[in-house]
Amino acid sequence: RIEFEDVEKKFGKTTVLKDLNFTIGRGERVTLIGPSGSGKTTILRLLMTLEDLTDGYIWVDGDPLTHDRRDGKRVELKPKQIAQVRKRIGMVFQQFNLFPNMSVLDNITEAPIHVLGQSKDEAKENALTLLDRVGLRNRADAHPTQLSGGQQQRVAIARALAMDPEILLLDEVTSALDPELVGDVLGVLEDVAETTDITMLIVTHEMQFARDVSQRVMMFDGGQIVEEAPPEEMFTRPKNERTQKFLEAII
Ligand code: ATP
Repeated sequence: RIEFEDVEKKFGKTTVLKDLNFTIGRGERVTLIGPSGSGKTTILRLLMTLEDLTDGYIWVDGDPLTHDRRDGKRVELKPKQIAQVRKRIGMVFQQFNLFPNMSVLDNITEAPIHVLGQSKDEAKENALTLLDRVGLRNRADAHPTQLSGGQQQRVAIARALAMDPEILLLDEVTSALDPELVGDVLGVLEDVAETTDITMLIVTHEMQFARDVSQRVMMFDGGQIVEEAPPEEMFTRPKNERTQKFLEAII
């Protein structure tokens, strides 16, 4: 379960998120939509602790992510405590972000060995199983530059899954791909959605994918949730005028 409580995020003097409150249930899959600059990526990056939270709290299954409330005061947690909660969360980026100087296998086993303390053999076995699942077992020894964008993204998904995350964040994972490679990547993610109970927070412009995998869509504008509904309802009968305009522009 993810809870944002009175979250505020500023970059310098610019407020990107203000008084943001929402809850995502355990195992729930939610798509975030909204115009460029509405704060979707910032929400994912805050969860990944790639950005500092200006104010408010983020809770993961009731545990504080970066700040706790003690005696009514907001206190920042120590890096070690933050790392404990942070490792339950995985993220796949638009630009894959694989380690270019490592093989596919090493990309996947790096964090399980160094963060989870798995043995090399155990990490390798898990990685090969995951590569099977994303259809790339025969490319275990390749380097990222030898793979297509779609293959790199499938390795990035395997790498995130290797950490056995409770929460998976997907940030426009098909936006950098040639159109013919999008289907394979979305197919892998649909399989993950169907076969696991991982909580998923998805930023995407692929509305069919959002329909297929998510139970709820949240529409953001100006750092606020302006509307939320199940995908079928959101995409066919949006109530808010800004949602209507946004969907008209992209569909
Ligand atoms: P997009 O679809 O374009 O990715 P988004 O909804 O994900 O948009 P964010 O990337 O979260 O929006 O950005 C929200 C706002 O925060 C934007 O106005 C952006 O310019 C600003 N912003 C994001 N990162 C930074 C940063 N590191 N420094 C300054 N401003 C930032």
